[in-house]
Amino acid sequence: MTGTAYDPQNIFGKILRGEVPCHKVYENEHVIAFMDVMPQADGHTLVVPKAASRNLLDADPAALGHLYAAVQIVARAAKAAFAADGVAVYQYNEAAAGQTVFHLHVHVLPRHEGVSPRRHVDGMADPAVLAQHAERIRAALAH
Ligand code: AMP
Repeated sequence: MTGTAYDPQNIFGKILRGEVPCHKVYENEHVIAFMDVMPQADGHTLVVPKAASRNLLDADPAALGHLYAAVQIVARAAKAAFAADGVAVYQYNEAAAGQTVFHLHVHVLPRHEGVSPRRHVDGMADPAVLAQHAERIRAALAH
């Protein structure tokens, strides 16, 4: 088993502390949501709890409730903003399961009928495009 201690130097820890910028779409007392920089589909958003845990396995159950309440809010807005047919919501735990950033996070991916998501590692998106996409989701959240 790989290390199970939470390391606050992970990139999402830095984003939560404001040390690294992000294209934020939503924030409340418990979570922050921002655009994934390597989106697998337009509107690919990450919802990240403010409480520190590596992933689902060591998370406080109360934090999970707050997290998934926010995932629902973001999923509805991302679906509306991108006129999607559905939304994929997924989450990896430890490297063996595909996790690369070790602060719990949930992927929210607008999906269209017949359109496959891009690969998980297909490169960084244009920041101007991410900024536009974040604005679309924020606008949907405001309705
Ligand atoms: P995973 O740990 O595999 O569930 O996914 C981590 C995700 O974080 C990947 O989809 C990356 O594209 C994304 N990512 C990594 N660094 C950043 C960053 N600085 N801002 C936004 N997303 C990021």
